[in-house]
Order: sequence, then C-alpha cells, then structure tokens
Amino acid sequence: MAARKRVVVAGLGDVGLLTAIRLAKHADVVGISAKSALVSGQELGVRISRPGDWARDYWIPFDRFRGLDRVRTVQATLTGVDLASRTVFGRGGDGATTAEEFDALVISTGVTNGFWRQPTMESADEIGAGLHAAHNRLAAAGSVIVVGGGAAAVSSAVNMATTWPDKRIDLYFPGEAALVGYHPRTWDRIRGRLTALGVGVHPGHRAVLSNGAGHEITSEPVSWTTGQPPATADAVLWAIGKVRPNTDWLPPELLDEHGFVRVSPELEVPGHRGVFAVGDVAASDPLRSSARNRGDSLVAHNIRAEFTGRRLRTYRTPGRRWGSLVGIQADGLEVFLPTGHAFRLPAWSVQRVVMPGLVRWGMYRGVRANDPLR
Ligand SMILES: Cc1cc2nc3c(=O)[nH]c(=O)nc-3n(C[C@H](O)[C@H](O)[C@H](O)COP(=O)(O)OP(=O)(O)OC[C@H]3O[C@@H](n4cnc5c(N)ncnc54)[C@H](O)[C@@H]3O)c2cc1C
Repeated sequence: MAARKRVVVAGLGDVGLLTAIRLAKHADVVGISAKSALVSGQELGVRISRPGDWARDYWIPFDRFRGLDRVRTVQATLTGVDLASRTVFGRGGDGATTAEEFDALVISTGVTNGFWRQPTMESADEIGAGLHAAHNRLAAAGSVIVVGGGAAAVSSAVNMATTWPDKRIDLYFPGEAALVGYHPRTWDRIRGRLTALGVGVHPGHRAVLSNGAGHEITSEPVSWTTGQPPATADAVLWAIGKVRPNTDWLPPELLDEHGFVRVSPELEVPGHRGVFAVGDVAASDPLRSSARNRGDSLVAHNIRAEFTGRRLRTYRTPGRRWGSLVGIQADGLEVFLPTGHAFRLPAWSVQRVVMPGLVRWGMYRGVRANDPLR
C-alpha cells in the first residue's frame, strides 16, 4: 500500500481550517497557526457590540472541531519555506524551531487588518482580553465615528446602532456610495437600514490617516483630505480596509507586486506543483474572494487529484461580493446575493437549523459543545 501523503496547511483561519477538515481523511494533515483556535476575521460588527454572541460562532478552540481530530495542529509563527526540500519552518511560543515536511502545501495565512485581524501568537486569555477591551471602550463612548465604507465599517455601524440605540453613530466614507464591489442594490438597502437606525451617513469624506488609524480605536478629531471641517466623537473606529498579506515568511518570487500569492486558475502556485494558496492571501481574482466561494473544497479536491493523477478543477467567482453583511440579528440572518437581492432566514431557522445543522455539522463536520471551563 502506498504511504499516506503529507499535507501542511499554513494558517488555520476561516479557509485553512475548512481545507484541513476536508483533507483529514485522505492524508496526514498538519496545521500550523499562530493561534490555537479559529479566531475569525468575520463579522466585526457583532464582535464589537455583542462579543459573547460573536465568540460562540467565530472563536472556537481547535480541539472542539471533530473534523480536526485526525489533524495535528502546531501553534507557531511561520518563518519560512524551503521549496526544494519541501519543508515549512515555524517558531513556537518557547522560541523552538519546528520543521514540517510536506507532499502538498496549502498557504492560507490571510491578511492583517485592524485590531481584529492580527497574526500574532496569543493565548485564550489574551484573545478574550482584546475582545472585551474593544467592546468596553465602545460601550463607554457616548458617540462613535466609523471611518470606512466596506462590509466591516457598515456592519459595525449597524450593529452598534442596534445594540446601543442612544449612542450617536456616524459613518464616513470617501465615495458617493459605500459597499463598493457589492451590487448597488445592496448599498441601497443597507443605507435605508442605517438611516432608520439613526446613523449619520456621510459620503464624500476621505480621512487623513493619523498614527493609530487602522490598528486601534482612537479619540482624536478626524480630519478630511476632502475639505470638510474635522469631526469629533468619543471613539473612532477605523475600518479602512488597509489589509496587508501575511506573506513575510514566503520567498518573494511567489508573490505579486502587492505581496499576495500568485495562483493559477486551479489555485496552484505557478511552477510549484502541490503548492496551493487560498483565501484572502491568494491573488485568485481582483476581489481575492476564494474564501467565500468554496476555495477550501476546490483546493482539497485538487490536492487529492494531484496525488492520484486526476484532473484539477478551476476556480470560478461570481465577480461581485456577497454574503451576510451585518450578521445574525434578533430578526434573523439576511444574506445578500451577487445580484444585490437579499433573502432573510428567520431567527428560529438560524438557531435551530442553519447554525447547528448546516454550519456546525455540514460545513465543519461537528463542533463539540462549549468548554464549560472557558
Ligand atoms: C464559510 C465562509 C463564509 C464566509 N462568508 C462571508 C460573508 O458572508 N461575507 C464576506 O464578506 N465574507 C465572507 N467570508 C470571507 C471572509 O470575509 C474572509 O475572506 C475570510 O475570513 C478569510 O479567511 P482566510 O482563511 O483567508 O484568512 P484568516 O481567517 O485571516 O486566516 C489566516 C490565519 O493564518 C494565521 N497566520 C497568519 N500569518 C501567520 C504566520 N506567519 N504564522 C502562523 N499563522 C499565521 C492567522 O493567525 C489566521 O489564523 C466567508 C468565508 C468563509 C470560509
């Protein structure tokens, strides 16, 4: 019998975790990641306004995923890869070096963005402390400015206004409309919701980026390069989409001019068979959207195909952003399609069918109940 192949998944975030689960039965899988849990970059709005709800779905220790039982996880910072000897290197919390050989490698280290997506080694206590510090800071503020026009900014404004109806919330963004990349109908609908919640909506404002902008909540007045007088609030949340790919550990010849990993339509790194990239780190399409368009399944399929000499599949994207923008709310979960149309799943179905059945069993192949000691 042929020896089982070895796959290293570098970065166990939203998409690396799913890829590891999909491959676990078919190969010896090692996952290397800075944290010992899934700490998703999704749903910033729910995270800052209702951290308990967010943690239930988006902060899950690896040992609670049944699908990872066969996967060996290593908590380490990735430091390099030797493509000739097919070995990945990392540094553990104690400073010791780890080296993992692979037949296939999945690069899924994502991007750094704001205080909520940092690729640093963190214990559960440190993750919890960061989560509560941001929430407490915003909860204590009488007024909040949100700078940015993407999903993270819009979701933050909607969720804060829903959780804290008495707070003054203002959303500032540079263009005529927010949510660029989504169908225009999506912004029309969300703008109506923001207005109904009493959020001040301020198009045409491009902020001067101060020192803390982009990686912490600040309190200084915000100035505008677009000429308006400065705006003030007790807290300023910067969600300006200043993403930086987590690719310092990779040889520069694998990267495009912006530092993202170049990939073929099969999500394979050109010239390196068996090396794949997926998720926000992969230059798969202009929106780098393979995480939300089932890139995990495609890469898992292609790795198995590569091992067995079958044909690889190619990645397809709808060409527009889509998904849940504001997360689960008391009235259910609204999902925006690439066409800009939205459908709402009622709250009962989200709690009883979608999350336990489709997400925890269907997608993650089983998630154990919450650790009572946490
Ligand atoms: C099921 C699903 C549903 C989604 N739904 C939506 C949606 O509705 N709307 C939407 O806009 N988007 C959606 N997304 C996409 C989402 O917005 C992001 O694209 C996704 O979170 C990116 O995942 P990632 O794994 O590429 O990055 P991340 O989740 O950031 O994972 C990267 C991981 O690598 C680790 N890492 C980074 N560098 C190092 C290093 N040097 N050493 C060790 N570890 C490192 C990080 O700590 C992190 O754990 C969805 C994604 C999925 C999978």
